[in-house]
Parts: sequence; structure tokens; C-alpha cells
Amino acid sequence: MRAIFAIVAIDRFAALKRTIGYSRAVGLLEGLATDIRALLPVPSAAWPGRNAVELSFSCETAAEAEHLLMQLSADLAAETTIAGYVFRRTVTIGAIDAGDLPISDELVEMAEQALEQAREARAPYLLADEEDFRPALDGLHLMRDLQQAIRDDALTLHYQPKIRSRSGEVASAEALLRWPHPTLGMIPPDQFISLAEESGNIAALTEWVLGHAIADQALLARIGVDLAIDINISGVLVADRQFRDMALARIAAANGTIGFEITETAMMHDPEGALANLEAFSAAGIRLSIDDYGSGFSSLAYLQRLPVQELKIDKIFISRLASGQRDPLLVRSTIDLAHALEMEVTAEGVETPEALALLQVMGCDLVQGFYLARPLELGALVDFVKRKVRDEGPVVAQALRDRVRRRAERGALR
Ligand code: C2E
Ligand code: CA
Ligand code: CA
Repeated sequence: MRAIFAIVAIDRFAALKRTIGYSRAVGLLEGLATDIRALLPVPSAAWPGRNAVELSFSCETAAEAEHLLMQLSADLAAETTIAGYVFRRTVTIGAIDAGDLPISDELVEMAEQALEQAREARAPYLLADEEDFRPALDGLHLMRDLQQAIRDDALTLHYQPKIRSRSGEVASAEALLRWPHPTLGMIPPDQFISLAEESGNIAALTEWVLGHAIADQALLARIGVDLAIDINISGVLVADRQFRDMALARIAAANGTIGFEITETAMMHDPEGALANLEAFSAAGIRLSIDDYGSGFSSLAYLQRLPVQELKIDKIFISRLASGQRDPLLVRSTIDLAHALEMEVTAEGVETPEALALLQVMGCDLVQGFYLARPLELGALVDFVKRKVRDEGPVVAQALRDRVRRRAERGALR
């Protein structure tokens, strides 16, 4: 047995209500509820809401439910008289296959969404699965779970090394958030960062990241690994004074090197507030880097006015480096221009030896990507750094670099 919850709306009800008045409109809904009850199998229930009739019934299969809803929408279309005013009543139905869920606000909301979709499609009814609306539902649950995870310390940081392309030395590590959810598995940051931004949890989340990055850095230092750590700062926070004060206090109390990666769009909302904060960060010795460069619309000339030391070219340009026509040119001119403006350049998303070799030839300062190292747990990061120190030396074979250089000379890069 499956429970179906539905909302039956009279078409153009709002306009009708204005014409016939509120109390008659209520009468109309009561009449509709009575008609529905007469048409549905037992057991079922139908009751008038504010603007529509809500109902629930159960049936054996989804096909049976579809059939009933179709029948219902056809049978409810009828000539109706109210206070001497005759009109043809037609309805649209939004229904949810609720499985064995009890009727709740969430279910009503989902039926409203189904109704909205039916109207958009100009369909007489739409039966949606409760699971179709899971994302909307998830948003709510995830937010609650995320707050809990911050409190329970149930998040983790992975670190992805940034490597000097000339020497192969590990210059720093970027902290990337990981959320192992107890039932949903590993949730990627792309999915919960925006949620945290929208729900006002991003400051707490970033404070968590900063606190743990500082603690991990101290731990690394104790075992002889001195490593700068970069953390990602959401655009929402860049102009935030409270966040600035918290971050400055925490970093001042620690004794390592912390960098901030910020996206170019961070300057959009409150450019003056953002600039003031960036200047305070920079004055406090925090290395600032522009993340995802190229994915937005800022010009280098504008970014140059910011106190930033590093430009990270978005991985989309790097992944297409070896195959694309225009991308190598774009990357090379970005590197040259950034150097002229006294910024260091990092290429993220380096996935192949070819891309790495090209970037080395182009004079890109730092490289980061799956080919060099994936984001690593702290222990694996230690192993990686120690191995690198031992091996010390060029990251790619000289032969490969020479091959690329020869290609460049033949004009492939001009
Ligand atoms: P991002 O800052 O651009 O980080 C780089 C992303 O690219 C990471 O994804 C990383 O795992 C992935 N990546 C690294 N190397 C390669 C490669 O060679 N190829 C490809 N295809 N991808 C590569 P991740 O960890 O899923 O993070 C996604 C985004 O979530 C980050 O993009 C960042 O914007 C955000 N994020 C992660 N941690 C934090 C955080 O603590 N705070 C904030 N505000 N945002 C964070
Ligand atoms: Ca980043
Ligand atoms: Ca990036």
C-alpha cells in the first residue's frame, strides 16, 4: 500500500476569489472537497485548505494512483454555480507518492512544488515521487547535519601540495574540507560550501578550518615539517569585519604561515570593505592569492590594485592546455603579465606530464594537481613532503621538458 498526498487547486482561483469574495470562495473549496470525497475510494480524506483542497488516499501501485488522479481531474471539471454566478470549474492536481511517510509540512511543500510543475507543463495533474524532491529536503537536513558536524568536530581537512615547478620543492599545502557524512558518505565541498554560505554557517565553518589548519601546522612543525598552509575563504566572508578580527587574532596567536585563497568574485559585493580587509590580512603577513583566475571577469589590471601575491589560474584552462589551441597562449600571457605585476603564478588542475612540462617552459612558478599529488590526509602529506625532500630535484624528466621546448620553438606556442 502506498500513501498519496495531493493538492487539488481550482484553476484561476485567485482571480475568482477577488470576483466572488472570500466567504463564497471558501464555499467553493468546501464544495470541491465534497465532490472529491464522493469520487475517491475508501479510505481517503479531503479537506479544504486556504486556497486549495488537500487530500490523501492509498492505493496498491503507482499506476493505480496515476489512473485515479487522471479520473479525478476529469470528473472534477464541471459547470458550477456560486451565488448565481456560473463558471466552468477546472482543476490542477499536484500529488506526491509519499511511501509510508506521515503527512508533514515537508510533504505539503512537495505537493505544492508538484502542483507548480503541473501548471507549468499545463498538465491536469502531476504525480511526483517523494524522492524527486529529495534535494530540496536534503538542503534542510544537510544544514542541520552540517551544524552538528562542526560542533562534533566530524569534518576533516585534506591537504593538496603546491609545488615549485623549477625545484620540485613543496611550497605549501592547500587545505580542502572533507565531510564524511554518517549515512550519505563523503559529501564533496562543492555541495555543502554554498549551503553553508546561504544558511549563515560559513563563518563557523571557516573558523573550524582555520583552527584545524593551525593545529595541523603546529603538529607538522613538531615533526620537522615546516609548511605554509593555504585555506579557502568564501567570497561571502572577505568583506566581513567580524570574520577578519577572528582570523587575525587566531593567526597572530599561532606561529606558522597561513595564506588565504579568495576568488575574484569576492570583491564584487562590497569592494571597499573587501579591500580594507585584504589590506589588514596582508599587513598581518597573510599571503593572499586569487583563486580560480580566469573564470570570472576581473582584469589583471584591477587585481593588481589588491595586495595579492599569487594568482591561481583556474583548472579549466590547465586541463585543456595540451589539447587546446587558444589556452596555451592565454596561460602564457597570463603568466607573463602576472610576473610583470610581481605576482607569482600557480597552475591548478595539472593532470598530465605534458601539462606540467608546458607550464615549466612557460615559467609558471607553482603547480598543483592530481598528476603531482591528490589532496592527502595529514599522514600521507607528511610522507609526501619527506619523500620530496629526499628525492629533491626536477619534477619531470629533462627529456620531456626538452621535447616540449623544441615544440615551442617550432611555433606551437606562438
Ligand atoms: P578550489 O579551491 O578550486 O580547489 C581545487 C579543487 O580541485 C579541489 O576540489 C581539488 O580536489 C580539485 N583538484 C585538485 N587537483 C585537481 C586536478 O588535477 N584535476 C581536477 N579535475 N581537480 C583537481 P575539492 O576539494 O572538491 O574542492 C572544491 C571546492 O570547494 C574548492 O575549489 C573550494 O572552492 C571549495 N572548498 C574546499 N574547501 C573549502 C574550505 O575550507 N572553505 C571554502 N570556503 N571553500 C572550500
Ligand atoms: Ca582554492
Ligand atoms: Ca581553484
